[in-house]
Amino acid sequence: MTTGNRWRPAYVALGSNLDDPGARIVEAFGHLCRLPGCRLIAQSRCWRSTPLGPVEQPPFVNAVAGLLTVLSPADLLGSLQDIEATMGRARPIVRWGPRRIDLDLLLLGSEQLVGPGLTLPHPGLPVRDFVLYPLADIAPELWVPGLGRVRHLAAGVDNRGLVALGG
Ligand code: AMP
Repeated sequence: MTTGNRWRPAYVALGSNLDDPGARIVEAFGHLCRLPGCRLIAQSRCWRSTPLGPVEQPPFVNAVAGLLTVLSPADLLGSLQDIEATMGRARPIVRWGPRRIDLDLLLLGSEQLVGPGLTLPHPGLPVRDFVLYPLADIAPELWVPGLGRVRHLAAGVDNRGLVALGG
């Protein structure tokens, strides 16, 4: 489903810690560039982050993409999951485990949804340094529905495990 000709901003978090993660992030940006019903308009720097959770695994490379899209939230999430599958991410995957590519839909316009398959804004957004800092690279003044401004949210999280890689 599309929303007619109504182009809305959307933000997507990218993460990888397998098979040359920096190259996987570049590859994923390439897929986002070619996504029907979407225009890639902004790319954050890449950041290196310490993995969450109990599983021993390599550090992640993270970034955020800014898009304009006519897709509905469900269709955009489906497109992101298609990219994950194309790039060889196997499901089911261990929770908190290593991954070749992970694409999360952070925000789509002012949508606020809580559902079994899709929650917006993404519930990890306000607490994850590896999401907030890349997002602040491209949209520091963005107002996150129900939560506040990106740069204020970023200032409130512990970012000691995060390093800017550039690019
Ligand atoms: P993960 O594999 O950890 O990225 O989690 C993916 C699961 O979270 C999928 O089953 C999605 O349906 C669900 N999910 C809920 N909200 C979101 C969102 N905003 N972005 C991406 N996945 C989401």
